[in-house]
Amino acid sequence: MSALGTTPADCARQLAVQFGWQRGERREVRVLHGSAKRRALVDSPAAAAAFACRQPRGAGVYVTMNALAATAADRFAADVDVPHRVRFALDFDPVRPSGTPATDAQLDAARALGAEVERFLVAHGWPVPVRMDSGNGVHAYWRTDLGTASPQPRALLKALHARFGTDRVAVDVTIHNPARIMRAAGCWNCKGTEAPDAPHRVACVTHAGEPGARALEAEDFDAVLRALGAADRAPEPAKRTPAPRRYAGGELPRLDVGAWLARHCIAHRGAREWRCADGIGTRWVLAACPFNVGHDRGEAVVTQAASGAVAFRCQHHGCAAHSWRELRELIEGPRVDVLDMFKKAGKALRREANDAR
Ligand SMILES: [Zn+2]
Repeated sequence: MSALGTTPADCARQLAVQFGWQRGERREVRVLHGSAKRRALVDSPAAAAAFACRQPRGAGVYVTMNALAATAADRFAADVDVPHRVRFALDFDPVRPSGTPATDAQLDAARALGAEVERFLVAHGWPVPVRMDSGNGVHAYWRTDLGTASPQPRALLKALHARFGTDRVAVDVTIHNPARIMRAAGCWNCKGTEAPDAPHRVACVTHAGEPGARALEAEDFDAVLRALGAADRAPEPAKRTPAPRRYAGGELPRLDVGAWLARHCIAHRGAREWRCADGIGTRWVLAACPFNVGHDRGEAVVTQAASGAVAFRCQHHGCAAHSWRELRELIEGPRVDVLDMFKKAGKALRREANDAR
């Protein structure tokens, strides 16, 4: 059984619609299967479908939303490989425990929210998009004519989520970068463990969009951002500064985590604001998990709370036990804990005394 949920010809037809795939446009097909990751550079929907057909059932098949430059390097696609944004996508994602497929009711809720947002955008002059059921949620796609540096896709995702997102369905705010991959139509979505009311489904295009729809330009994004009151948002309120952490000997020095990561050449995707229990902290998504470089899909994160407290977490099961302390030990070597040394020495002495008896 293959990752394809339909015939190769039908998959190719759907991919052409999903991505507005023009003849000769190069895209990367990426296959994620457990921790394995494969890719193929293809220049037609038919070639993408043929590659998907060779993948086993259970593998997730994705395609870069935007076309890649002819000069794109021979590696997994990065933002620099995209010369122009030709596609904008929305992903309506039911809020549910991770590792579970959506239930039919959750999928219906995603479709309803997708329809509501679509009505709003169409009312602001946008064409009717291509619609797709991703298997666990709903996608909408528009043609665009935007530079890769445009901040508007990101701003719009955030603003749409703020206005329309609910506690049941979220607008995915992370899919704005030019090299973003999207689940391929015509392929199985086998993410998570199936349940009777939450089966694995085949991603499929459900509406081909407005025939001959124009490409959205910067002004189309600005019009919607203005309508959402997100065009000239007032600066964020001043950050609250919580009291520094203290211990018996006085204040704990605050670690400069950004400098520490740089000093030890730990690559990350930039420092981001992070809402934590004690105010606004900082969050670094690592390019790869220091304990296992195969964990390179954003699983590994370092956070620093407003108080200065630092934490490390990798979502991968094998890394569940690894904390910030272990990460520091991994990078800097064992840390000498004087109290611990005395305890161990005491234990060893008692053992010796017992053995001598
Ligand atoms: Zn890990």
